[in-house]
Amino acid sequence: MNPELRDWKRICVFCGANSGALPAYVQAATDFGTELVARGYDLVYGGGSVGLMGVVARTVLEGGRHVTGVIPRALTTSELAGEVLGELVVVDTMAERKERMLTMADAFVVLPGGLGTMDELFEALTWGQLGIQSKPVGVLNVNGYFDQMIAWVDHAVAEGFVRPHHRDLLVDATTPAALLARMAEHELPAGLLVWHKEE
Ligand code: AMP
Repeated sequence: MNPELRDWKRICVFCGANSGALPAYVQAATDFGTELVARGYDLVYGGGSVGLMGVVARTVLEGGRHVTGVIPRALTTSELAGEVLGELVVVDTMAERKERMLTMADAFVVLPGGLGTMDELFEALTWGQLGIQSKPVGVLNVNGYFDQMIAWVDHAVAEGFVRPHHRDLLVDATTPAALLARMAEHELPAGLLVWHKEE
């Protein structure tokens, strides 16, 4: 196990504000939340009560772990839908939301979702690529939902647009237990840049 990963406390989950077309997606969100509780992890997420986001947050909260939701003020009506799950951090912008989630968590797990979820996945990966921070990123590939996304990343490597060691930032598995185990075992690729902030 990568020694840096042994003291994970908070896992950030990126997932859909919708529930998807198949019951398997809601089941996977419930199962993933249950796995977080079983392992004693707290949750960071986008703060909503709708879709898979709400399913994960409710499961973790009901299991007795801490839930932090980070939501921009402008989305409090549509994504909270009148229900606050756990501790809510209200921010001003989408960029601030993402930055808060990325810096608060020790690792990132992506469940099925739409454009917003993909934005968050690639932000986490590109922070790794640029060396802004290096934290594990895993996708829970329920029902083959991410097959095409993973195939595209491999295509981008083959075509010379993604370096092979950056491809290794992305971990995937089909069950929550296998995904978290694989992420904990995962060695972050050697040779990542180290980001130097301007003074
Ligand atoms: P979706 O996958 O489109 O259902 O969206 C899932 C979540 O991602 C929702 O809470 C969206 O508000 C959020 N989201 C969408 N775009 C962004 C963004 N640029 N930065 C941060 N969160 C986003």
